[in-house]
Amino acid sequence: MERDDSKKTFVIKGIGVSPGIVIGKAYIYDPLDIQVSFYKIKNARLVAKETKRFRAALKESEQQLRELKSNLSDLAGKEPLYIIDVHIMLLRDKMFINRTIDYIRDKRVNAEWAIKMTIDSYREIFEKVEDDYLRGRFSDVQYVGQRILRNLAGEKRGAIINIAEGVIIIASDISPADTAQMKIDRVLGFATDIGGRTSHTAIVARSIEIPAVVGLENITRLVRTNDDIIIDGTVGLAIVNPDPEMIRRYEVKERDYLDAKEISLKDAGLPAVTKDGYKVEIGGNIEFIEEIPSAIVHGAEGIGLYRTEFVYINRERLPTEDDHFANYRSVVGVAGLAWSTIRTFDLGGDKFFYDPKLAKEMNPQMGLRAIRFCLKELDLFKVQLRAIARASAFGKVKILFPMISGIEEIREAKRIFEEVRSELIREGVAVGDRIEIGVMVEVPSAVIMADALAREVDFFSIGTNDLIQYALAIDRVNDRVTYLYEPLHPAVLRLIKRVVDIGHEAGIPVAMCGEMAGEAIYALILVGLELDELSMNPLAIPRVKKIIRGSTLKESKALLERVLKFSSAVEVRDYVEEYMYKQFPDEFPLTEQ
Ligand code: PEP
Ligand code: MG
Repeated sequence: MERDDSKKTFVIKGIGVSPGIVIGKAYIYDPLDIQVSFYKIKNARLVAKETKRFRAALKESEQQLRELKSNLSDLAGKEPLYIIDVHIMLLRDKMFINRTIDYIRDKRVNAEWAIKMTIDSYREIFEKVEDDYLRGRFSDVQYVGQRILRNLAGEKRGAIINIAEGVIIIASDISPADTAQMKIDRVLGFATDIGGRTSHTAIVARSIEIPAVVGLENITRLVRTNDDIIIDGTVGLAIVNPDPEMIRRYEVKERDYLDAKEISLKDAGLPAVTKDGYKVEIGGNIEFIEEIPSAIVHGAEGIGLYRTEFVYINRERLPTEDDHFANYRSVVGVAGLAWSTIRTFDLGGDKFFYDPKLAKEMNPQMGLRAIRFCLKELDLFKVQLRAIARASAFGKVKILFPMISGIEEIREAKRIFEEVRSELIREGVAVGDRIEIGVMVEVPSAVIMADALAREVDFFSIGTNDLIQYALAIDRVNDRVTYLYEPLHPAVLRLIKRVVDIGHEAGIPVAMCGEMAGEAIYALILVGLELDELSMNPLAIPRVKKIIRGSTLKESKALLERVLKFSSAVEVRDYVEEYMYKQFPDEFPLTEQ
């Protein structure tokens, strides 16, 4: 996907009403954009004419709805059809008609204005209704009113959306009749300003099984047609103008979602223990607190990687300590999650300061980012550390420092954390008494210096996404070299093995939180490497757990030993794939091979 770098990324939170993940181009759909004119009917004789105009528009609206209903009948389930019936009933509703005619006659206003007055009077009635569902039905009145207005204005119908390729429809709201105006099979997802679980958009999206998020409040103002957008209907998020890294991550999530749909969640809560009793802790990787319920449902035992970047970049000003705290407090101590590994932010300065004078780095992946940036911007770093320490009073917290390349960085990071912690204690603020500290092992120098680093920390977490990028010199978001991005490269396997062995010698656990941890095909290799924890996209958990439960540590070690003898990545891959396909034919059906 091409990207316009000048566009700002937004993450908007709403209500996920139809599950699934989709990445595509936005298309703004605005059928209700009709201006209501106002004029006085000066001549009493013209009142009858105005009433007639209104009645003609009612009739025309009904005809159109009947036509739409027959168009829609072969596209979707029954529910959208019922909603159109409700709209037809409203067009015939005596109270609606008489009230409008009364306004025309008594107030001497044009039909358009009278309809607007009727709608407003209905709004008052609906606002008093306690039942959420019934109150939400005011949108039906609005919808019908808009259709009549359009007919009064001489517009026969809203423009048919001629979608050439798949788009994500962005609208204030979407009614079943709107969907009849779209080439629905080309719509990839919906995102709307208003609505709840029972809104039209939700019903339609679920019936045609496409992801939808509603209640995003102002998405129609933030998005332009053709902007890149990701919709996560499972957790209720829309991400506008995502960066390439985000797109890549969501492509994986999209695939895992489709795989997870095939797999029962019945056993998701069972532990990942091999048949000969080797247990692997399973963590979930999250970026947003909205992902927590999904992580639990899919079998995460803890949060193995909370990427905190979006606490920063989704806002106009830098987050305060309380902004941070509110996020971390939502993860820590949640029932069903035994621990939360919070990674301090992994970004460069350009994400915080919109200063045109700030030189763009030639090579940001190797630039002033993550721990390097934090150690230069101590005030910013301390705000985050204070919030993490405060959250640790509520449950088990592990802090993870990204991009550590040598011993000085971790010592410095620890020193600052200790300073912040003592400061809080002096202030009388509660902090947890045992916060574990770990480094992300994702820079090759950290692997080489793992023995020294192990003496400084409580755990390691291997970030294969970056470790592979830096070890094999492959830009992880450059399509031209993705063919070289190979987690099964013998060099990568040796690096991982070294980290695990050194970690264990030093008596500390070793986790893996890069994408490799969630790839089912690598599960046995990772067991064979004796990783203590695998943390992954929550949607990938059920399948990885299932494979681990179906294996033994003994065979996994034998498999690893065998492939470590190979010197080419192709040999390793061929061997591992053939082995896995044979051992787990149900998990790797022929279509996936
Ligand atoms: C990694 O590098 O493997 C990792 C988990 O971190 P990120 O993908 O956020 O760089
Ligand atoms: Mg990384």
